[in-house]
Amino acid sequence: MNFDGLFKNQKKVVKLFQNSLKKDRFVHTYLFEGVKGTSKLEAAYYFAAMMLCDGEKKPCLQCDNCKKVLKGMHPSVFLLTPDNGMIKKEQAEALQKEFSLTALAEGRRIYIIDEIDKANPSAANSLLKILEDLGSDNYVIMTTESIDSVISTIRSRAQIISFDRLPAETVAADLIARGFEEETARVFANLSNSAEEVTELLRDEKILPIFELAKKVGISCVNGDVAPLLTMFSEGDCLLREPDRKYHQLFMDLLVSLCNDKLYFVTDQIDRISYRSTMQIISEFMNKNQEKVIGELETILKFKQRLKYNVNLELMYAQMFVELKNIMKA
Ligand SMILES: [Zn+2]
Repeated sequence: MNFDGLFKNQKKVVKLFQNSLKKDRFVHTYLFEGVKGTSKLEAAYYFAAMMLCDGEKKPCLQCDNCKKVLKGMHPSVFLLTPDNGMIKKEQAEALQKEFSLTALAEGRRIYIIDEIDKANPSAANSLLKILEDLGSDNYVIMTTESIDSVISTIRSRAQIISFDRLPAETVAADLIARGFEEETARVFANLSNSAEEVTELLRDEKILPIFELAKKVGISCVNGDVAPLLTMFSEGDCLLREPDRKYHQLFMDLLVSLCNDKLYFVTDQIDRISYRSTMQIISEFMNKNQEKVIGELETILKFKQRLKYNVNLELMYAQMFVELKNIMKA
């Protein structure tokens, strides 16, 4: 484990802990909330190192205790992570047992519960018992990507610390460093907040053809040679044959981003554009009327809503592209 991402992207959080250290004012239960990729778990280990460090300037990251924390091997730091997407009752009970065995021993202990929202109700109950019983030397840090899914009895016992989203630029730079092509990196960085998540997503070989399709359809929406509907039906097999709605959702998200880029173009915010190469082609032909671009965006968003229902997808795309074409013509 290292704290590079934490120091770079979550300066506020580090400062908050350093201030609490100066005043020696820590609460015993923290809930770190923020989207994926925001160094929440790193922050929990940073906190643990700070609490256990023997050095002068805490955490020194050099002393024995710091090194053990960094390696994830400190005997006073306990980590509970979801097993197969869920924190189960047995896991929570094991932690509770550990807790009651060590509660009377000397020294500070830090219990880290990653993704607390994944605790099923009986696990959450066991964990709640730990929170109710914390001695003065015990600290619990919980993390979540979805604060609304954390039950209120747990939420109300913790100090909630919010972690900032990473700027899309940062995520894109990370993706480019991982070898992704620039436009792909920028577009997907805008859809997610985590380079890891995007890397994982793009391992699915269905994704890039859908991305290519979105670009082609976007271009044929403006250049007038081939109707977008034709492009969709002649080249869109990768999508049209796909029963899983998540790919259709992604396709619509990609069209929404492209439309946002058009809006950036007509409002002179060129540096916010993520489809940089595609927009070079599109901007030559597109209608620069802002109202029209907004109308287009509204249409795509309207049809994207329909994906929630059991609509006939081919028919839905056909209607959408006809409407889009009409907006641009009018
Ligand atoms: Zn240290």
